Amino acid sequence: MKKTTPKQKKIPERRCTGCGGTFPKKELVRVVRSPEGEVSLDFTGKKSGRGAYICPRLDCLKKARKAGRISRSLECAVSEEVYTALEEEIALMEKEREEE
Ligand SMILES: [Zn+2]
Repeated sequence: MKKTTPKQKKIPERRCTGCGGTFPKKELVRVVRSPEGEVSLDFTGKKSGRGAYICPRLDCLKKARKAGRISRSLECAVSEEVYTALEEEIALMEKEREEE
């Protein structure tokens, strides 16, 4: 007999624009487009505006960028600076994970 544990908390999940997988929202990096049309990174999840999510993995960023999925999901262009900032932040996060 298999023991089942139906104890699953409901965690808000979002889809990564890179790999297409769904992950808990807090594990993803949010890119947000403000009502003024400005694209920025959001690590608090509290900025208002339309958001796109991505895993903190350079692989996912590369995929999302190549396919233009972040800008498609935000419905606006994503500048070079935003990608650079994302790359830097994600590289840092990857490094932190390695050090754990
Ligand atoms: Zn991903």
